[in-house]
Amino acid sequence: MSNMASVYSDPNWFKVKEIENGIFVIEETGYVQSYLVNGEDKTLLIDTGMGFQNIQRAIESIARGPITVVNTHWHFDHTGGNELFDHIGIADSEINLIERGLTNEELISILGMGFENSLTLPKGFLLEKYQIVGKKASFSIKDGDVFNMGNRKIEAIATPGHTRGSTSFLDRYSRSLLTGLVSRDTFYAHFEESNVKSFICSLEKVISRSDEFDKLLPIHGQYPLPKSLLHEVLSAFMKIDAGAEPDAIDHSWGPECYLYRFSSFEVLVKPPGAKGINVIPQ
Ligand SMILES: [Zn+2]
Repeated sequence: MSNMASVYSDPNWFKVKEIENGIFVIEETGYVQSYLVNGEDKTLLIDTGMGFQNIQRAIESIARGPITVVNTHWHFDHTGGNELFDHIGIADSEINLIERGLTNEELISILGMGFENSLTLPKGFLLEKYQIVGKKASFSIKDGDVFNMGNRKIEAIATPGHTRGSTSFLDRYSRSLLTGLVSRDTFYAHFEESNVKSFICSLEKVISRSDEFDKLLPIHGQYPLPKSLLHEVLSAFMKIDAGAEPDAIDHSWGPECYLYRFSSFEVLVKPPGAKGINVIPQ
């Protein structure tokens, strides 16, 4: 069966840039960024993007060795190109979710909720054919797992909050933390699977190790970010957890959500007692 991720109608869709020796950002402007990290003879691809275009072709000339994919979490905007790769890992709790895939109907509905103000599509892309084909994970990622890539070793750090299995990756070689935990964008803590207290624990955990990195490479929005942002985000989540009044009530995802505005980011959370948004029918 044909699928959109194998199509390559817009060669300018992915903006691929080397940030520093061996780390490349693969941007899909307005949506997400994935990262490619080259070791001596192995390559780690952190997330596979929206699945609008063929990310495998966009990176084939820069990968130094066989590619292992690791997903920061299961959401479609980070796993859209998984089907193009053979060696894929994700946290245990999200293995079943990447195997499921998403139908065109589900994707249109999700895009209508979360991205309605920023829906830019690749040239020649047919939204009515967009689907994400489920792909079996070949391994599960556990907290503390190390990917040995010769000159650099990348450590997986479990950082739940946005989803139960959210994972960050520490590259001591470039002193970078590649993470979905923070951004200068909107934090989505309004999903059924999101948890404010888990966000707080994950932020504290990463802060306790902040002598091992100098900068943050986030999967949404502006990058790199200073590690001082971790403290700002932690204090924001602590205020929310302590019951602060929201700055606005947001209905962009359907049910009522609380929106908190801080100086350089926003946080969307489910109101106390609310179930939260579930993007796919279970
Ligand atoms: Zn997500």
